[in-house]
Amino acid sequence: MSVNYSIPRGTYDILPETSYKWQYVLKTFQETAKLFNFKEIVTPIFEKADLFERSVGDTSDIVEKEMYKFNDKKGRKFALRPEGTAPVIRSFVENNLGFSGNLCRLFYSGPMFRYDRPQKGRYRQFYQYGIEAIGSNHPYIDAEVIAFADTFLRNLGLKNYNLEINSVGCSICTQDYDLALKEYFSPHFDELCPDCKKRMGKNPKRLLDCKVKSCQSIAKNAPSMIAYLDEDCRTHFEQVKFYLDKMGIVYKVNDRIVRGLDYYTNTAFEFLNNNLGAQNALLGGGRYNGLVKQIGGKETPGVGFAGGIERLLLSLEQEELFCGKNSIPEIFFITLGKNAQIKGVELIAKLRNMGISIVTEIEKESMKSQMKAANKSNALFAIIIGEEELSNNELVLKDLQVGNQKMIAFKDIGEIKEIIDKAK
Ligand SMILES: [Zn+2]
Ligand SMILES: [Zn+2]
Repeated sequence: MSVNYSIPRGTYDILPETSYKWQYVLKTFQETAKLFNFKEIVTPIFEKADLFERSVGDTSDIVEKEMYKFNDKKGRKFALRPEGTAPVIRSFVENNLGFSGNLCRLFYSGPMFRYDRPQKGRYRQFYQYGIEAIGSNHPYIDAEVIAFADTFLRNLGLKNYNLEINSVGCSICTQDYDLALKEYFSPHFDELCPDCKKRMGKNPKRLLDCKVKSCQSIAKNAPSMIAYLDEDCRTHFEQVKFYLDKMGIVYKVNDRIVRGLDYYTNTAFEFLNNNLGAQNALLGGGRYNGLVKQIGGKETPGVGFAGGIERLLLSLEQEELFCGKNSIPEIFFITLGKNAQIKGVELIAKLRNMGISIVTEIEKESMKSQMKAANKSNALFAIIIGEEELSNNELVLKDLQVGNQKMIAFKDIGEIKEIIDKAK
Protein backbone atom coordinates (compact mmCIF):
# COMPACT_ATOMS: atom_id res chain seq x y z
CA MET A 1 0.00 0.00 0.00
CA SER A 2 1.41 3.37 -0.89
CA VAL A 3 0.53 6.36 1.24
CA ASN A 4 0.80 9.85 -0.06
CA TYR A 5 1.62 12.21 2.77
CA SER A 6 1.24 15.89 2.21
CA ILE A 7 1.22 18.94 4.40
CA PRO A 8 -2.12 19.94 6.00
CA ARG A 9 -4.06 22.61 4.09
CA GLY A 10 -3.28 26.14 5.26
CA THR A 11 0.14 25.29 6.64
CA TYR A 12 3.60 25.52 5.12
CA ASP A 13 7.18 24.44 5.64
CA ILE A 14 9.91 26.98 6.23
CA LEU A 15 12.50 25.58 3.84
CA PRO A 16 16.28 25.85 4.23
CA GLU A 17 16.56 28.32 1.31
CA THR A 18 14.29 30.83 3.05
CA SER A 19 14.75 30.16 6.75
CA TYR A 20 17.35 32.93 6.98
CA LYS A 21 14.61 35.45 6.19
CA TRP A 22 12.71 34.27 9.26
CA GLN A 23 15.79 34.51 11.36
CA TYR A 24 16.33 38.06 10.12
CA VAL A 25 12.80 39.15 11.07
CA LEU A 26 12.93 37.51 14.50
CA LYS A 27 16.41 38.80 15.24
CA THR A 28 15.36 42.35 14.32
CA PHE A 29 12.31 41.97 16.58
CA GLN A 30 14.48 40.78 19.48
CA GLU A 31 16.95 43.62 18.96
CA THR A 32 14.10 46.14 18.99
CA ALA A 33 12.84 44.57 22.22
CA LYS A 34 16.26 45.15 23.74
CA LEU A 35 16.13 48.85 22.76
CA PHE A 36 12.82 49.24 24.57
CA ASN A 37 13.70 46.86 27.41
CA PHE A 38 10.95 44.32 26.73
CA LYS A 39 11.67 40.77 27.95
CA GLU A 40 10.68 37.55 26.25
CA ILE A 41 7.87 35.35 27.55
CA VAL A 42 7.11 31.90 26.13
CA THR A 43 3.76 30.22 26.80
CA PRO A 44 2.43 26.82 25.64
CA ILE A 45 0.82 26.53 22.24
CA PHE A 46 -2.34 25.09 23.81
CA GLU A 47 -4.39 26.42 26.71
CA LYS A 48 -7.72 25.64 28.32
CA ALA A 49 -10.33 26.54 25.70
CA ASP A 50 -12.29 28.74 28.10
CA LEU A 51 -9.30 31.12 28.44
CA PHE A 52 -10.01 32.27 24.89
CA GLU A 53 -13.78 31.89 25.12
CA ARG A 54 -13.89 34.26 28.08
CA SER A 55 -11.22 36.73 26.98
CA VAL A 56 -11.36 36.94 23.19
CA GLY A 57 -15.13 36.61 23.51
CA ASP A 58 -17.48 33.92 22.34
CA THR A 59 -19.20 36.17 19.79
CA SER A 60 -15.98 36.80 17.88
CA ASP A 61 -15.23 34.89 14.68
CA ILE A 62 -12.01 33.64 16.22
CA VAL A 63 -13.75 31.74 18.99
CA GLU A 64 -17.03 31.00 17.20
CA LYS A 65 -15.67 29.60 13.95
CA GLU A 66 -11.90 29.47 13.85
CA MET A 67 -10.59 27.83 17.01
CA TYR A 68 -8.92 24.42 16.91
CA LYS A 69 -10.49 22.76 19.96
CA PHE A 70 -9.83 19.30 21.29
CA ASN A 71 -10.52 17.15 24.34
CA ASP A 72 -7.66 15.41 26.07
CA LYS A 73 -7.94 11.81 27.31
CA LYS A 74 -9.66 12.96 30.48
CA GLY A 75 -12.22 14.95 28.51
CA ARG A 76 -10.80 18.39 29.38
CA LYS A 77 -11.35 21.03 26.71
CA PHE A 78 -8.25 22.64 25.23
CA ALA A 79 -7.56 24.88 22.26
CA LEU A 80 -4.53 25.57 20.11
CA ARG A 81 -3.87 29.24 20.80
CA PRO A 82 -5.55 31.48 18.19
CA GLU A 83 -3.74 34.59 19.45
CA GLY A 84 -0.99 35.56 21.86
CA THR A 85 -2.36 38.16 24.28
CA ALA A 86 -4.71 36.01 26.39
CA PRO A 87 -1.98 33.43 27.21
CA VAL A 88 0.48 36.19 28.15
CA ILE A 89 -2.08 37.83 30.46
CA ARG A 90 -2.94 34.38 31.91
CA SER A 91 0.75 33.93 32.74
CA PHE A 92 1.04 37.50 34.08
CA VAL A 93 -1.79 36.81 36.53
CA GLU A 94 -0.76 33.25 37.42
CA ASN A 95 2.89 34.16 38.08
CA ASN A 96 2.13 37.52 39.68
CA LEU A 97 4.46 39.25 37.23
CA GLY A 98 3.18 42.64 38.32
CA PHE A 99 4.47 42.22 41.88
CA SER A 100 7.34 44.74 41.60
CA GLY A 101 4.97 47.57 40.82
CA ASN A 102 7.07 48.45 37.77
CA LEU A 103 5.58 48.34 34.32
CA CYS A 104 5.80 44.76 33.00
CA ARG A 105 7.17 44.84 29.43
CA LEU A 106 6.89 41.52 27.58
CA PHE A 107 7.39 40.24 24.05
CA TYR A 108 6.60 36.90 22.45
CA SER A 109 6.64 35.12 19.12
CA GLY A 110 5.44 31.74 17.94
CA PRO A 111 2.89 29.81 15.92
CA MET A 112 -0.85 30.52 16.34
CA PHE A 113 -3.74 28.53 14.85
CA ARG A 114 -7.01 29.53 13.22
CA TYR A 115 -9.32 27.43 11.09
CA ASP A 116 -9.73 30.09 8.44
CA ARG A 117 -10.02 30.08 4.64
CA PRO A 118 -6.39 29.97 3.46
CA GLN A 119 -5.33 32.78 1.11
CA LYS A 120 -2.24 34.79 0.30
CA GLY A 121 -0.61 35.90 3.55
CA ARG A 122 -3.17 34.02 5.65
CA TYR A 123 -2.62 30.52 6.99
CA ARG A 124 -4.15 28.10 9.47
CA GLN A 125 -0.86 27.88 11.29
CA PHE A 126 0.71 31.31 11.19
CA TYR A 127 3.60 32.87 13.01
CA GLN A 128 2.87 35.84 15.21
CA TYR A 129 5.00 38.28 17.16
CA GLY A 130 3.76 40.80 19.70
CA ILE A 131 4.42 42.86 22.79
CA GLU A 132 2.42 43.70 25.93
CA ALA A 133 3.08 46.56 28.38
CA ILE A 134 1.08 45.79 31.51
CA GLY A 135 0.57 48.05 34.52
CA SER A 136 0.17 51.63 33.34
CA ASN A 137 -2.64 53.75 31.96
CA HIS A 138 -0.28 56.60 31.06
CA PRO A 139 -0.73 57.78 27.45
CA TYR A 140 3.05 57.89 27.05
CA ILE A 141 3.05 54.07 27.25
CA ASP A 142 0.55 53.87 24.35
CA ALA A 143 2.94 56.04 22.35
CA GLU A 144 5.92 53.93 23.41
CA VAL A 145 4.22 50.72 22.24
CA ILE A 146 3.47 52.41 18.89
CA ALA A 147 7.09 53.65 18.75
CA PHE A 148 8.30 50.06 19.30
CA ALA A 149 6.26 48.91 16.28
CA ASP A 150 7.49 51.82 14.16
CA THR A 151 11.14 51.20 15.12
CA PHE A 152 10.79 47.49 14.37
CA LEU A 153 9.37 48.08 10.87
CA ARG A 154 11.98 50.74 10.16
CA ASN A 155 14.83 48.52 11.39
CA LEU A 156 13.64 45.79 9.04
CA GLY A 157 14.19 48.33 6.27
CA LEU A 158 10.51 48.79 5.35
CA LYS A 159 9.43 52.16 4.00
CA ASN A 160 5.99 51.66 2.44
CA TYR A 161 3.85 51.62 5.54
CA ASN A 162 1.71 54.07 7.43
CA LEU A 163 0.16 54.36 10.85
CA GLU A 164 -3.50 54.96 11.60
CA ILE A 165 -4.80 55.57 15.10
CA ASN A 166 -8.15 55.93 16.82
CA SER A 167 -9.69 55.93 20.27
CA VAL A 168 -12.51 53.52 21.10
CA GLY A 169 -13.19 55.19 24.45
CA CYS A 170 -13.88 53.42 27.74
CA SER A 171 -16.71 51.19 28.92
CA ILE A 172 -18.65 54.31 29.99
CA CYS A 173 -18.49 56.57 26.95
CA THR A 174 -18.83 53.64 24.60
CA GLN A 175 -22.41 53.08 25.83
CA ASP A 176 -23.65 56.33 24.30
CA TYR A 177 -21.78 55.57 21.13
CA ASP A 178 -23.29 52.08 20.86
CA LEU A 179 -26.75 53.64 21.20
CA ALA A 180 -25.96 56.17 18.49
CA LEU A 181 -24.74 53.38 16.19
CA LYS A 182 -27.87 51.31 16.78
CA GLU A 183 -29.98 54.35 15.99
CA TYR A 184 -27.99 54.97 12.82
CA PHE A 185 -28.05 51.40 11.55
CA SER A 186 -31.60 50.34 12.46
CA PRO A 187 -33.31 51.96 9.42
CA HIS A 188 -30.87 49.89 7.29
CA PHE A 189 -31.34 46.65 9.26
CA ASP A 190 -32.81 44.66 6.35
CA GLU A 191 -29.90 45.60 4.07
CA LEU A 192 -27.22 44.32 6.49
CA CYS A 193 -25.39 41.03 6.04
CA PRO A 194 -26.44 38.14 8.36
CA ASP A 195 -23.30 38.59 10.53
CA CYS A 196 -23.99 42.29 11.01
CA LYS A 197 -27.61 41.57 11.95
CA LYS A 198 -26.25 39.43 14.78
CA ARG A 199 -23.59 41.98 15.76
CA MET A 200 -26.10 44.80 15.95
CA GLY A 201 -27.54 43.70 19.30
CA LYS A 202 -24.34 42.70 21.06
CA ASN A 203 -21.59 44.76 19.53
CA PRO A 204 -22.66 47.44 17.04
CA LYS A 205 -19.07 48.76 16.68
CA ARG A 206 -18.18 45.68 14.70
CA LEU A 207 -20.54 46.83 11.92
CA LEU A 208 -17.92 49.47 11.16
CA ASP A 209 -15.29 46.99 10.04
CA CYS A 210 -17.53 44.50 8.18
CA LYS A 211 -15.83 43.40 4.96
CA VAL A 212 -19.10 43.10 3.00
CA LYS A 213 -19.36 45.91 0.40
CA SER A 214 -23.03 46.76 1.00
CA CYS A 215 -22.43 47.02 4.77
CA GLN A 216 -19.41 49.21 4.15
CA SER A 217 -21.37 51.70 2.08
CA ILE A 218 -24.00 51.95 4.82
CA ALA A 219 -21.31 52.34 7.50
CA LYS A 220 -19.61 55.15 5.60
CA ASN A 221 -21.75 57.86 7.15
CA ALA A 222 -22.11 56.36 10.62
CA PRO A 223 -21.25 58.64 13.55
CA SER A 224 -17.65 58.82 14.73
CA MET A 225 -16.53 57.51 18.13
CA ILE A 226 -14.31 60.53 18.62
CA ALA A 227 -17.36 62.76 18.96
CA TYR A 228 -18.61 60.56 21.81
CA LEU A 229 -15.43 60.40 23.90
CA ASP A 230 -15.85 61.65 27.45
CA GLU A 231 -13.37 64.14 28.87
CA ASP A 232 -10.90 61.59 30.30
CA CYS A 233 -10.84 59.56 27.10
CA ARG A 234 -10.53 62.65 24.92
CA THR A 235 -7.59 63.88 27.02
CA HIS A 236 -5.94 60.47 26.85
CA PHE A 237 -6.22 60.46 23.05
CA GLU A 238 -4.86 64.01 22.78
CA GLN A 239 -1.91 63.04 24.99
CA VAL A 240 -1.08 59.96 22.92
CA LYS A 241 -1.00 62.16 19.82
CA PHE A 242 1.12 64.72 21.69
CA TYR A 243 3.76 62.08 22.56
CA LEU A 244 3.73 60.65 19.04
CA ASP A 245 4.35 64.16 17.69
CA LYS A 246 7.23 64.60 20.15
CA MET A 247 8.72 61.30 18.96
CA GLY A 248 8.41 62.37 15.34
CA ILE A 249 6.04 59.52 14.46
CA VAL A 250 3.68 60.31 11.59
CA TYR A 251 0.09 59.07 11.90
CA LYS A 252 -3.37 59.61 10.52
CA VAL A 253 -6.52 59.51 12.67
CA ASN A 254 -8.95 56.94 11.29
CA ASP A 255 -12.17 56.78 13.32
CA ARG A 256 -13.14 53.51 11.61
CA ILE A 257 -10.50 51.43 13.38
CA VAL A 258 -12.50 49.40 15.87
CA ARG A 259 -11.57 46.72 18.24
CA GLY A 260 -14.86 45.05 18.81
CA LEU A 261 -14.24 43.39 22.16
CA ASP A 262 -15.38 44.71 25.51
CA TYR A 263 -12.00 44.83 27.15
CA TYR A 264 -10.48 47.19 24.57
CA THR A 265 -10.29 50.80 25.68
CA ASN A 266 -8.91 54.07 24.35
CA THR A 267 -6.10 53.76 21.84
CA ALA A 268 -6.44 51.48 18.80
CA PHE A 269 -3.89 51.50 15.99
CA GLU A 270 -2.83 49.75 12.82
CA PHE A 271 0.27 49.82 10.68
CA LEU A 272 -0.73 49.28 7.04
CA ASN A 273 1.09 48.45 3.85
CA ASN A 274 -1.29 49.64 1.18
CA ASN A 275 0.53 47.75 -1.57
CA LEU A 276 -0.49 44.42 -0.05
CA GLY A 277 -4.12 44.62 -1.22
CA ALA A 278 -6.93 43.30 0.97
CA GLN A 279 -4.59 41.85 3.58
CA ASN A 280 -2.91 45.18 4.16
CA ALA A 281 -2.65 45.28 7.96
CA LEU A 282 0.95 44.63 8.97
CA LEU A 283 0.29 44.79 12.68
CA GLY A 284 -2.38 46.09 14.98
CA GLY A 285 -2.80 46.83 18.63
CA GLY A 286 -4.28 48.95 21.32
CA ARG A 287 -5.12 49.40 24.94
CA TYR A 288 -7.00 46.70 26.87
CA ASN A 289 -7.67 48.03 30.34
CA GLY A 290 -10.38 45.46 31.02
CA LEU A 291 -8.56 42.28 30.06
CA VAL A 292 -6.44 41.44 33.11
CA LYS A 293 -9.50 41.57 35.34
CA GLN A 294 -11.47 39.49 32.86
CA ILE A 295 -8.81 36.78 33.05
CA GLY A 296 -9.00 36.74 36.84
CA GLY A 297 -6.38 39.26 37.95
CA LYS A 298 -6.66 42.60 39.72
CA GLU A 299 -7.84 45.46 37.54
CA THR A 300 -4.63 46.35 35.66
CA PRO A 301 -4.30 48.48 32.53
CA GLY A 302 -2.37 47.19 29.54
CA VAL A 303 -1.49 48.01 25.95
CA GLY A 304 0.18 46.00 23.19
CA PHE A 305 0.25 44.95 19.57
CA ALA A 306 0.59 41.81 17.45
CA GLY A 307 1.39 41.05 13.84
CA GLY A 308 2.10 38.16 11.50
CA ILE A 309 5.54 37.34 10.14
CA GLU A 310 4.05 36.15 6.82
CA ARG A 311 2.86 39.65 5.89
CA LEU A 312 6.20 41.16 6.88
CA LEU A 313 7.98 38.73 4.56
CA LEU A 314 5.57 39.67 1.73
CA SER A 315 6.34 43.34 2.35
CA LEU A 316 10.08 42.72 2.50
CA GLU A 317 9.92 40.86 -0.80
CA GLN A 318 7.78 43.58 -2.35
CA GLU A 319 10.25 46.29 -1.38
CA GLU A 320 13.04 44.03 -2.62
CA LEU A 321 14.83 44.34 0.66
CA PHE A 322 17.84 42.21 1.16
CA CYS A 323 16.92 40.43 4.35
CA GLY A 324 20.08 38.87 5.67
CA LYS A 325 21.94 36.04 3.99
CA ASN A 326 21.75 32.30 4.17
CA SER A 327 24.79 31.05 6.03
CA ILE A 328 27.66 29.80 3.85
CA PRO A 329 30.67 27.78 4.99
CA GLU A 330 33.99 29.56 5.32
CA ILE A 331 35.93 26.50 4.23
CA PHE A 332 35.23 23.51 1.99
CA PHE A 333 37.65 20.71 2.87
CA ILE A 334 38.97 18.53 0.00
CA THR A 335 41.07 15.41 0.53
CA LEU A 336 42.55 12.99 -2.01
CA GLY A 337 43.17 9.43 -0.82
CA LYS A 338 42.43 7.51 2.36
CA ASN A 339 45.35 8.82 4.43
CA ALA A 340 44.69 12.45 3.56
CA GLN A 341 41.05 11.92 4.49
CA ILE A 342 41.97 10.66 7.95
CA LYS A 343 44.28 13.65 8.48
CA GLY A 344 41.39 15.82 7.24
CA VAL A 345 39.03 14.51 9.91
CA GLU A 346 41.58 15.53 12.54
CA LEU A 347 42.17 19.01 11.09
CA ILE A 348 38.46 19.73 10.54
CA ALA A 349 37.81 19.12 14.24
CA LYS A 350 40.65 21.49 15.18
CA LEU A 351 39.50 24.24 12.79
CA ARG A 352 35.92 24.06 14.08
CA ASN A 353 37.23 24.45 17.60
CA MET A 354 38.81 27.71 16.42
CA GLY A 355 35.34 28.89 15.39
CA ILE A 356 35.72 28.34 11.65
CA SER A 357 32.66 27.08 9.77
CA ILE A 358 33.70 24.19 7.63
CA VAL A 359 32.13 21.49 5.50
CA THR A 360 33.32 18.40 3.62
CA GLU A 361 31.69 15.82 1.35
CA ILE A 362 33.21 12.62 2.66
CA GLU A 363 31.71 10.33 -0.03
CA LYS A 364 33.08 12.26 -2.99
CA GLU A 365 36.54 11.01 -3.98
CA SER A 366 37.84 12.70 -7.13
CA MET A 367 39.27 16.21 -7.17
CA LYS A 368 36.76 17.17 -9.84
CA SER A 369 33.65 16.11 -7.90
CA GLN A 370 34.91 17.74 -4.68
CA MET A 371 35.75 21.03 -6.46
CA LYS A 372 32.26 21.02 -7.98
CA ALA A 373 30.74 20.52 -4.53
CA ALA A 374 32.93 23.32 -3.15
CA ASN A 375 31.65 25.76 -5.77
CA LYS A 376 28.04 24.76 -5.09
CA SER A 377 28.52 25.40 -1.38
CA ASN A 378 29.63 29.02 -2.05
CA ALA A 379 32.43 28.54 0.48
CA LEU A 380 34.99 31.34 0.73
CA PHE A 381 38.04 29.04 0.75
CA ALA A 382 38.95 25.46 -0.03
CA ILE A 383 41.56 23.46 1.82
CA ILE A 384 43.14 20.72 -0.28
CA ILE A 385 45.28 17.82 1.00
CA GLY A 386 46.67 15.22 -1.43
CA GLU A 387 49.33 12.54 -0.92
CA GLU A 388 52.13 15.02 -1.63
CA GLU A 389 50.89 17.66 0.83
CA LEU A 390 50.37 14.96 3.42
CA SER A 391 53.98 13.78 3.15
CA ASN A 392 55.15 17.42 3.52
CA ASN A 393 52.86 18.00 6.54
CA GLU A 394 51.14 20.92 4.86
CA LEU A 395 47.91 21.90 3.12
CA VAL A 396 46.78 24.12 0.26
CA LEU A 397 44.49 27.03 1.19
CA LYS A 398 42.74 28.23 -1.95
CA ASP A 399 40.77 31.47 -2.08
CA LEU A 400 37.67 30.50 -4.08
CA GLN A 401 36.68 34.10 -4.82
CA VAL A 402 40.05 35.41 -6.04
CA GLY A 403 41.54 32.09 -7.16
CA ASN A 404 45.05 32.37 -5.63
CA GLN A 405 46.39 29.83 -3.15
CA LYS A 406 48.99 29.37 -0.44
CA MET A 407 50.73 26.51 1.39
CA ILE A 408 50.29 26.29 5.15
CA ALA A 409 52.08 23.83 7.43
CA PHE A 410 49.82 21.67 9.64
CA LYS A 411 51.46 23.17 12.71
CA ASP A 412 50.55 26.70 11.57
CA ILE A 413 46.82 26.20 10.95
CA GLY A 414 46.12 28.99 13.47
CA GLU A 415 46.98 31.40 10.61
CA ILE A 416 43.89 30.27 8.72
CA LYS A 417 41.57 32.05 11.13
CA GLU A 418 43.33 35.38 10.50
CA ILE A 419 43.28 34.92 6.74
CA ILE A 420 39.52 34.20 6.78
CA ASP A 421 38.77 37.15 9.03
CA LYS A 422 40.70 39.44 6.69
CA ALA A 423 38.90 38.12 3.61
CA LYS A 424 35.41 38.71 5.04
ZN1 LIG B 1 -14.47 57.17 28.22
ZN1 LIG C 1 -21.89 43.15 7.38
